[in-house]
Amino acid sequence: MAELIKNPKTSFIEVECPKCGNKQIVFSNSATIVKCKSCGETLVIPQSGKAKILGKVVRVLS
Ligand SMILES: [Zn+2]
Repeated sequence: MAELIKNPKTSFIEVECPKCGNKQIVFSNSATIVKCKSCGETLVIPQSGKAKILGKVVRVLS
């Protein structure tokens, strides 16, 4: 059960799409690809540990 919590620094972040400027909230440790709800541009790519954020991080919501 405790195996699920590997990175205690997970948080939600607001990311701005580099393509259309749409802002949306994503999980910083997302296990799935997150795409822009407006244009479909890929914003977050899951990686081991922490997800790679392709969009511009507007702010961090902890
Ligand atoms: Zn977009």
